[in-house]
Amino acid sequence: MDKFLRRKDSSSRTDDEESTTSVTKNLKKVVKRKYDEDYIKNGFSWCGDETAPRPQCIICGDQLSNESMVPSKLKRHLYSSHPSCANKDKQYFRGA
Ligand SMILES: [Zn+2]
Repeated sequence: MDKFLRRKDSSSRTDDEESTTSVTKNLKKVVKRKYDEDYIKNGFSWCGDETAPRPQCIICGDQLSNESMVPSKLKRHLYSSHPSCANKDKQYFRGA
């Protein structure tokens, strides 16, 4: 009977909780997107810094942020703002 009590009492808990505080893994990687030649078919050229280029719409001159340097976003701009140009090819935009 005494045993049970002892067990319960041996609460010599080492404060593990604090030493295990979530290792700070919150370092955000800032990814700079690069311009790809292929983006021209979405009607986009680029401007600004070469290390963090910003996509620029060839048709309306709109500049998007570096984060928008992804085909899907460029395409979205093209389709929503310039639907009449959505089916043009590289040559069309190169000459624009
Ligand atoms: Zn545009």
